[in-house]
Amino acid sequence: MSLDKFFNPSSVAILGASREKGKVGYEILANIVRGGYKGVIYPVNAKAEKIEGIPCYPSLKAIGQPIDLVIIVIPARFVVAAMQECAEIGVRAVIIISAGFKETGPAGKELEDQIVAIAHQHGIRVIGPNCLGVMSTSSRLNASFGGDLPADGGIAYISQSGALMAALLDLAAAQKIGFSKLVSFGNKCDVNELDVIQALEHDPQTTVIAGYLENIINGSAFARIAEGISRRKPILFMKSGGTAAGARAASSHTGSLAGGDTVYQCLFERTGIVRCPSIQHQFDYAQAFATQPLPPGHRVVVVTNAGGPGIMAADAIEREGLVFAKLAEPTMKALASALPPAANVTNPVDVLGDALADRYEFALNTVLDDPGVDIVLILLTPQAMTQCAATAEAIIRIQKLKPQKPLFACFMGAAKIAASIQVLRQGGIPQYGSPESAVKAIKAFADYAAWRRQPLRVIPTLPANREAARAILKSHLDRGFTEIGETEAKKLLEAYGFLTPKSAFAKTAEEAVAAAQSIGFPVVMKIVSPDISHKSDVGGVKVGLPNAAAVRTAFQTMLTDIPKLRPQARLEGVSIQEMCSRTQEVILGCNRDRLGALLMFGLGGIMVEVLRDVTFSLAPITETEARRMIEKTRSYRVLQGVRGKPGVDIEAIVRALLQLSQLITDLPEIRELDINPFAVGLPGQTSIAVDARISLQI
Ligand code: ADP
Ligand code: MG
Repeated sequence: MSLDKFFNPSSVAILGASREKGKVGYEILANIVRGGYKGVIYPVNAKAEKIEGIPCYPSLKAIGQPIDLVIIVIPARFVVAAMQECAEIGVRAVIIISAGFKETGPAGKELEDQIVAIAHQHGIRVIGPNCLGVMSTSSRLNASFGGDLPADGGIAYISQSGALMAALLDLAAAQKIGFSKLVSFGNKCDVNELDVIQALEHDPQTTVIAGYLENIINGSAFARIAEGISRRKPILFMKSGGTAAGARAASSHTGSLAGGDTVYQCLFERTGIVRCPSIQHQFDYAQAFATQPLPPGHRVVVVTNAGGPGIMAADAIEREGLVFAKLAEPTMKALASALPPAANVTNPVDVLGDALADRYEFALNTVLDDPGVDIVLILLTPQAMTQCAATAEAIIRIQKLKPQKPLFACFMGAAKIAASIQVLRQGGIPQYGSPESAVKAIKAFADYAAWRRQPLRVIPTLPANREAARAILKSHLDRGFTEIGETEAKKLLEAYGFLTPKSAFAKTAEEAVAAAQSIGFPVVMKIVSPDISHKSDVGGVKVGLPNAAAVRTAFQTMLTDIPKLRPQARLEGVSIQEMCSRTQEVILGCNRDRLGALLMFGLGGIMVEVLRDVTFSLAPITETEARRMIEKTRSYRVLQGVRGKPGVDIEAIVRALLQLSQLITDLPEIRELDINPFAVGLPGQTSIAVDARISLQI
């Protein structure tokens, strides 16, 4: 979708333009004029003749010319009528700055709904309401009251918070960071984050899309589309706030372990969006993303004129999980041939405190030729002889000469390096105040590059009996049941290829004994009740029953003890099951959030909620993603086998996660699902879903 009328309008009308300095209606007009906008400006104000020397019109209709963009700054109660007027004269783009809508309560929401209805009916796109406006440096349009139009640059910024945008512009001005477009979209009644990033994908001035979000409107569309955009243009987001789903009391293990933020984290990982912990990090990252070539790998070499900062950088590289590059023999020889004998020719390359610009230039040129180097970090401290500005210029020169690998500068200090920092910024070299912040940006950049190198995702299709699964769901939903107990839940899992223990239902002790005899001892006995979902809590699971007598006793005990604990619970009977002895119990689960279905994996048993060693991924997943879910847990080493204990069948877990992924994608009625435990065997043995429960949504 094009937002061109917002970014490059030929004419702009300001409805509610004011003569009074300090009023939003004045500030916006003044900003448009001051910014140097070249199109036609129509202030609309029935009481004024001219504002800032520009003739005013009593109404939008009175303008009598086509208007590309209307900016509305009148009180909320008049906005619906204004939208009507826009529709009548064929306006297609409107920014509503005015507040007093959804954010104020039901009456405001009603007004906002009316605006959206008019917009949809007449094909008008609306940014806002309750926003700061839009800036576009290429058309010199500052249709906002957020501050002065910033310098030109490759970063586009979108923000759900107007106030934050104002702060960001101020900070950016101080750090000489330029922008292509800025969009404050306030309540997002029509144009939302997805519309804007889609428009920015094709914007030639924008090389990086950055933003601040509090929520995402449509998770599945976002996941699908943002992934494609991220593969071409980096997206850097800050995200705050929990979700409604996070607040919902979850009854399953998976639900309680997936906090409100998990789904956003998974959505960002899936779509390659780089999450930034603060504005400063975002600026730090954006500088690199906007100017540097993607690194081919994670191997970093440091060139420095001081030992201490070199060690600090080396520590940070190690800590962030980057690779400290090992220089090749010829590289070290070349360095040694020209650098003073005291210089260090291994990584970190120390060109010494008396290094002039030419020594830096030589070292940089040499390490860039090393095939074992992917990224170069140049550290400089302003010592007595240091040529700060000339060194900055040398770095820019070398990058032009060898543009394949990214360069990062960290000139440390303040007054002595101020001028050289300007040189670096203007020359498109990212500059950082400390080795740590530089290394953090390198890490984000190298990870993004690695994400882009991944092959396209392929979701496998496994055999499944969808009809059988749907029939189970239907039989519950038709009766208004939203909980599926163990027996039926396992049948549903079987339809998706899971193995479950042999089992039989028994209403009496004698039936239980007969069932046990046909299954074969030892057996497990579990209470069957629609009102008990955590059976062990009430003594409703007895494992390892060796013979008929034990089965009889267990039956009697359960049917006398459980009613004492849960007098209300309806007890239907017991389930007699084959006793599975498997090496490791794990938990597999799903939890459907407003934004998508989350899959969960972790070590099973009672410790799962205590240790919280679980990983999540948005369904549907690829085989690689399933494997990564397992590898990312701290317990992965346990699964691989420790201290003489053999490793378990990891492939069986991968397969189970893929089966679950397909199940949850096929069956939108399922809200939560736990398989706890999934008993994993040794490679070659079978792995079995020992317990399961499912909640449905109506
Ligand atoms: P709940 O989670 O409702 O308490 P489970 O069916 O998960 O009940 O049983 C509790 C524990 O009993 C499981 O974690 C598992 O260790 C063991 N268990 C249950 N069923 C079997 C079985 N068929 N074979 C072996 N162990 C079992
Ligand atoms: Mg269980």
